[in-house]
Amino acid sequence: MQDLKGKIALVTGVANKRSIAFAIAERLAQYGTTLALAFQPMGKENSENKLRKTVESISPDLLLAMDVADSDSVREVFKTIKDKWGRLDILVHSMASAKREELGGRTSDISLEGYLLAQHISAYSLIELARNARPLMEEHGGSIMSLTYIGSERATNNYNVMGSAKAALEANTRYLAMEMGEQNIRVNAISAGPIRTLSASGIKDFLDLLHNAAEKSPLGRNVTQEEVANAAAFLGSSLSSGITGQVLHVDGGYNIWG
Ligand code: NAD
Repeated sequence: MQDLKGKIALVTGVANKRSIAFAIAERLAQYGTTLALAFQPMGKENSENKLRKTVESISPDLLLAMDVADSDSVREVFKTIKDKWGRLDILVHSMASAKREELGGRTSDISLEGYLLAQHISAYSLIELARNARPLMEEHGGSIMSLTYIGSERATNNYNVMGSAKAALEANTRYLAMEMGEQNIRVNAISAGPIRTLSASGIKDFLDLLHNAAEKSPLGRNVTQEEVANAAAFLGSSLSSGITGQVLHVDGGYNIWG
């Protein structure tokens, strides 16, 4: 994708090699995109050094700690990008968080605190990132995308509190797309099928979810991080110039089932 060469992207949510964000960053790097990666601060020098090693193969120009629950930390990341490049073309939101017991427990038991946490980290954060990205994109347009899951549309086992958060994330995608279209800033979401990652390991009986998706999807298998990354590269490039406000399913077609 020649068109991605020289573009500047911020990819958030890289935790390790299994992260969907890692695959997206890798794919964008292969297409010649200049990369800033953001990771959740871990407070341990060891873990951060390990992450630095993990992303060495991608050679990001910037590797920045960002706690999306902390507005100052978010502002600092965008300031660093502004100071270095003065612009941003692609923003990938690939972060989610919830209390484990509120994914697997009963929906009627979800606490207000747990609900707000999931909404803050997994849905509101898209608004905050988009607000910070807009001044860096408005002159020349840009592409913002996030990662969602079908648990937003359908009641899915052990996804409870995150189902509400992903539904909000998808609604935010549409409202941001309406607002930012004027500046040619496109906002989309990729609804990925289940993939084994660190976040996924917090979902009870995740293997059942994987098997069920493989069995019922038209392609008869699970999707990979790399397939999601291909869709992200498409959404980041001008090949998708007419697409905004959409939820693009990369799930082997599972969403059409039943
Ligand atoms: P992952 O654990 O590798 O990535 C989740 C990321 O969120 C981690 O890097 C984590 O550090 C980050 N994060 C959590 N709280 C944060 C905070 N306060 N500040 C900054 N970063 C924070 O797992 P993943 O599966 O690659 O998840 C990436 C995205 O894809 C998530 O939005 C997830 O819901 C979505 N998704 C995953 C699947 C799947 O089956 N794995 C399917 C569909 C959608």
